[in-house]
Amino acid sequence: MSEQPIDACMEKIVSLCKRRGFVFQSSEIYGGFNGFWDYGPYGIALKRAVERQWWLYMVEKRNNVVGLDSSIICHPKVWKASGHVDRFGDIMCDCKKCKTRFRVDQMPDPTTCTNCGSKDLTPPREFNLMMKTYVGPVFDEEHIAYLRAETCQPIFLDFHSIRIATRMQLPFGIAQVGKAFRNEITPRMFTFRSREFSQMEMEFFCADEGSMEWFEYWRKERWNFYLNVLKFPTEKLHLHPHDKLAHYAKAAVDIEYEFPFGWGELEGIHHRGTWDMSQHQQFSEQDLQYLDQSNNTRYLPTVVETSVGLDRMVLAVLCNAYDEDRAPTQKEGMEDDVRVVLHFPATVAPVQVAFLPLSKKLNQNAQDLQEKFLGRYRTELDVTGNIGKRYRRQDEIGTPYCVTFDFDSLEDNAVTVRERDSMAQERIPIEGLRAYLDEKVLG
Ligand code: ATP
Repeated sequence: MSEQPIDACMEKIVSLCKRRGFVFQSSEIYGGFNGFWDYGPYGIALKRAVERQWWLYMVEKRNNVVGLDSSIICHPKVWKASGHVDRFGDIMCDCKKCKTRFRVDQMPDPTTCTNCGSKDLTPPREFNLMMKTYVGPVFDEEHIAYLRAETCQPIFLDFHSIRIATRMQLPFGIAQVGKAFRNEITPRMFTFRSREFSQMEMEFFCADEGSMEWFEYWRKERWNFYLNVLKFPTEKLHLHPHDKLAHYAKAAVDIEYEFPFGWGELEGIHHRGTWDMSQHQQFSEQDLQYLDQSNNTRYLPTVVETSVGLDRMVLAVLCNAYDEDRAPTQKEGMEDDVRVVLHFPATVAPVQVAFLPLSKKLNQNAQDLQEKFLGRYRTELDVTGNIGKRYRRQDEIGTPYCVTFDFDSLEDNAVTVRERDSMAQERIPIEGLRAYLDEKVLG
């Protein structure tokens, strides 16, 4: 992806995220901390829901993938074996004039400062992205440990423990969601490139024979996830096969999304061969081979990986949902006005159903109704402002259904359900509300 300045649409999304408490800078009262972000109430609801969809799709709806939650810090030798300590770096340089720092591979012209045009640059130098810490009472070289730079390495380490505990036989996968840390030279594009982020990775262990079919299978599955679960339009996605493959890899492809600032990698699907298992076998001096009882052979499993950043996925969901259209207004002299709306799929919307009393006198009735649905859907009780304003507020956080309790509801035991995208309103008997919303929200 070319690193361009954040565009106007992106600025609107960033400001909406801050205003409505989706995402804001970490440590803001201290001036912020570059590359670190906090998710507010709507942001965490969205992030959890997206993660939940991934976990459902990748683990719970399959009988050949199991889960793991490993520690963030593992034995330092792990990162030596994986190559991260020696090779996980980017080439960077600094502009001597304006002091801007660049990742050389992201500069349109590596001889010229992208910021001020100066040619007075420091020579390119290697920069390791691993974040270091110390474990134990002494802060010296011997006690250095690393915050994991990716979630997949512990999966390789635990492969045999999991296999024995679950009696799984090849082929099967192990999935994990968790934090990863990279000391990125140029964190940018909001949460797209952060220094602390969450990854969702699945390592699929199989015999080498047939592994390319599994690669193709997972490529299609992951593509379908974006289309069918997150409802991204096909034209916003493309597949980018890697031009240069790692020496051990048979195939690698990225799924890219067209963000407002350009195409960017969302997810990688990688055929990693037996590289990881053989590295850990060598460094741990343990036999990590798999005994295939079907033909009594021993071999190191081949691995097909799907790897995506949760924060990047959430950012893509936000960008894909953001829209401005026109809606009726009560503003004087105007029939309609610009409406900011997030068209989230109901499964991931931070608030799935909002309950709105038409008048303050009905607050308790609306609250009583909301309480019937707590824990079933993500709900909110919205009591302040005129009803039009409240619809707009809910549109802006992407609430697909608003349930309005009015004075007629006291008589006819029915409520008005307003749908976010069409703005259509329908009168639904309270008795049938659960069945109606279940179908719309839970699918
Ligand atoms: P990039 O080229 O963007 O630095 P990468 O090829 O190094 O990414 P991987 O190591 O394959 O990425 O990581 C897998 C996924 O983790 C990426 O596709 C992305 O979604 C996510 N990811 C990687 N680095 C970051 C980061 N700094 N911030 C947020 N998400 C990240």
